Amino acid sequence: MTGPVPSTRLNDGNEIPQLGFGVFQIAPEETARAVGTAFEIGYRHVDTAQMYENEAGVGQALRESGLARDDVYVTSKLSNAAHAPDDARRSIDRTLEELGTDHVDLFLVHWPLPTVDGGDFVSTWQVLEELKADGRARSVGVSNFQVAHLQRLASEGALVPAVNQVEVHPYLLNSEVRAYGREHGIVTQAWSPIAQGAVLDDPVVLAVAQQVGRTPAQVVLRWHVQHDHVVFPKSVTPERVRENFGLFDFELDDEAMSRIDALDKGEDGRTGAHPETMDFVPS
Ligand code: NDP
Repeated sequence: MTGPVPSTRLNDGNEIPQLGFGVFQIAPEETARAVGTAFEIGYRHVDTAQMYENEAGVGQALRESGLARDDVYVTSKLSNAAHAPDDARRSIDRTLEELGTDHVDLFLVHWPLPTVDGGDFVSTWQVLEELKADGRARSVGVSNFQVAHLQRLASEGALVPAVNQVEVHPYLLNSEVRAYGREHGIVTQAWSPIAQGAVLDDPVVLAVAQQVGRTPAQVVLRWHVQHDHVVFPKSVTPERVRENFGLFDFELDDEAMSRIDALDKGEDGRTGAHPETMDFVPS
């Protein structure tokens, strides 16, 4: 990969750019423009999902960018409605069609859904193992998996997930699941890395930002980078997309890192659904 963004090596030997562009809650008709702007700024990694209903916009941006397919890292995720193995197999083909490509770089089980249909995410995971074997996904991983879910995959699956994409930001450190990932070679991808903006006016974040002469968003995203998380902040505002790309020419010292770590509120800091109870299945 070229440009300022370092790559992180996954447990299957593949590399992922540590910073990308997230497209959750970007309207389908706005997605091609937003992703195109990100490409112009230098992003080469996009995080989408079947449930975001904007994979086609990502595909359009890819085509219009003129970038070589191998120069862009694309992640998508399985819909909660497609956990049954045959549905999962069909849905990846639809994803590839929408994206206009013959493979994704990374494909994830979006949610474990432990309370839905007997919570059998193992047979779903086995379909992702097939996708890795046949090359439709270069790497495979999971999202919103708790330690118990990862332990079940470790005993019943063949592959260790390359990543686990979970909610992490200064108000929710999600320490247990991150520690399990570190011990078992599973890279943590931090979703809602700036808690959709909620951490940006925290007095500690503001103080560190002033100290290092950077914006609050850059400080929080840099904190993630120094914790070895892969991040993909979302913004439809071009100046913010550019701001969020400026993370690799400054550092936070240990004291600043510790002050931000100390903002953890545990479960009270969670902004999104809890993986144990999340049961949304789109119709
Ligand atoms: P983020 O933490 O990235 O925050 C996005 C919000 O912050 C938007 O409202 C955006 O506003 C605003 N924002 C972005 N940059 C700045 C900035 N520099 N200064 C001030 N405000 C800013 O939230 P997301 O929930 O979107 O998470 C990022 C990505 O993570 C998603 O897009 C998706 O790819 C992934 N994700 C995955 C989930 C999963 O279950 N696996 C769940 C949720 C997210 P605006 O756009 O108006 O500029």
